[in-house]
Amino acid sequence: MPNHDSLSRSSVQDLLCKLISIPSVNPTVAPEEPYGEKTIAEFAHSWLQAHSVTARLEEAAPGRPNVYAEVGSGNGPTLCLCAHLDTVGTSGMTISPFEPRVAGNKVYGRGSYDMKGGVAAIMSAAAVIAADSNIRGKLILALVVDEEYASIGADDFVKKHKADACILVEPSEQKIILGHKGFVWAEITTKGRAAHGSRWDIGVSAIGKMSRIIVAFEEFDRRVLRKRVHPLVGPASMHCALIQGGSGISTYAPECTLKVERRTIPGEKPEDAVRELEEVIRSAGEEVDVNCSFHRPSLLCDRDEPVVRHLRAAAQSVTGVQPEEAGVAFWMDAAVFAEAGIPTVNYGSSGAGAHEAVEWVDLDSVVSVAQVMVETTRRFCK
Ligand SMILES: [Zn+2]
Repeated sequence: MPNHDSLSRSSVQDLLCKLISIPSVNPTVAPEEPYGEKTIAEFAHSWLQAHSVTARLEEAAPGRPNVYAEVGSGNGPTLCLCAHLDTVGTSGMTISPFEPRVAGNKVYGRGSYDMKGGVAAIMSAAAVIAADSNIRGKLILALVVDEEYASIGADDFVKKHKADACILVEPSEQKIILGHKGFVWAEITTKGRAAHGSRWDIGVSAIGKMSRIIVAFEEFDRRVLRKRVHPLVGPASMHCALIQGGSGISTYAPECTLKVERRTIPGEKPEDAVRELEEVIRSAGEEVDVNCSFHRPSLLCDRDEPVVRHLRAAAQSVTGVQPEEAGVAFWMDAAVFAEAGIPTVNYGSSGAGAHEAVEWVDLDSVVSVAQVMVETTRRFCK
C-alpha cells in the first residue's frame, strides 16, 4: 500500500477532529441544540476544494446542503461513496461532545463513530485519488444531511446523480454489510360511542376495542413475525409505539389512535405488511383500516455484484484478512441508493457509543477504511 499525505494517521486524525468540533446535530431530532449541518457542509466543501477535489453544495432543503464532490473524467464506471454529516443530539452525554479528545487509538466526541469517522475516511480517500490516481471512471462523494431523521439528503442526492455502485461507510467494524431491514409506520384509529361514564348500556370505549387489537398484534409479533427469519438480518418484528385516546375520566372514550412500527426483512413489501396487519385486526373481531404514514425499503445486495467483489478484494489486500459479510437490523441510507437502482453495500469503521453518552471511534480503523476506499475506487473505476 503506497503512502499518501492525506492518508497518514495524523492527517486523518486532524480532519476527523475538525469534523467533530463542528456541531452538526440534526435539527429535527434535537431542535433545541445549535444548528450546524450547513457549517460542516461548508467546511467539507472547502477542504475538498483545497485538496483538488471538485465539490459543490446542493440544498436538499432550505439551509440544509449536501456536499457533492467528484474526481476523474468519467470514461469508465462511477463509484459513489456516501456518509452522513448530521448527528443525533448531545443530551445526557458524559463527555464533551464537540471538543474531540484523543486517547491512544480512540477519538471521542459526538458523531465520532456515527459517522464523522466515515466522513473523514471518504474525504481523505477522494483527496488521494485526486492527487495521484488516473482512474478512467469517476469517484463521487455524497456527504448528506438528515440521515438521523428522514434522509432528505440521500433522497435529494439520488434524484440528482447516477452511479454504477455505491458504498456507504456507516460504522460496521469493517464488515461488509450486504443487507438491512426496512420499516413501515402505520396508524390505526378505533371509534367508540361517547357517553356518560354511568351509561354502560349505551357507551362503547374505543380504548377497549383497541386493547383487543393490541393483544392480537403482540400475539402476531411473537407467533408469526419472529419466526419469519432472514439469514442476514434476522426476524421480522413489530411493536405498538404510541397510543392516544379518551376525552375524560367520566366519559366512554370516543376515539383511540395507535401507532405501530413494523420492521421488514428483505422480500417483504410495505403494502403486504399493511394488509397483514388488517387481517390480524379482523381476526381480533374488529374492522378498521391501517394507514401507512411512512415506509422505507430493506436492503439486499448480491455478494457477486462487482462492487462487492472489488470491495472484498480491496479489504483483503489492505487488512490482510478476508472481511466478514453480514447484515444488520437497523435501517440505513443504503436502501435509498439501492431503490434508485444503484447496487449498494456498506463498509465502515469500528468504535462504540452511537447515540449514547460516550461515543468514540477507533482511529486505526478510520485510516484503514480510507485505504480500502482508495483501493476499491482504483479497482472499480479502472
Ligand atoms: Zn449513522
